[in-house]
Amino acid sequence: MSRLDRPQTDQLTRLMDERWAREFREIRSMLASLGDERQRSNYAERAATAPDDGLLETLAGVDDPLIRQNLQDVRDIVAARARIAQGSYGECIDCGEDVGYERLLAYPTAKRCIACQREHERRKAAAEGRSSPR
Ligand SMILES: [Zn+2]
Repeated sequence: MSRLDRPQTDQLTRLMDERWAREFREIRSMLASLGDERQRSNYAERAATAPDDGLLETLAGVDDPLIRQNLQDVRDIVAARARIAQGSYGECIDCGEDVGYERLLAYPTAKRCIACQREHERRKAAAEGRSSPR
């Protein structure tokens, strides 16, 4: 069980809500300047009228690296909210230890403790063949 108390969880939820709103502001403004004329008006119209959740589905088909990055952040928030609902938020998904409140304040969507995150990134880099030492 995570050792985050209620005020801490509330604080982190607020941070994620702010980030959620910011991501969608960026996504909406990027959509307005994207693609060909027909696509642009289509996206711009949806961006202006769709609620965030509805826009999320529209965005799955958008092929733009910047928007994809924002989308990834949004998905991380969705996943973190689900973990809060399940009561597993704040626990490392790899070792089950506390991620730590300080770390979560910096990265509210963090899924791993620092040690596991470093290990994860090391393995990922190795798998991608980028970490071969000289
Ligand atoms: Zn861990």
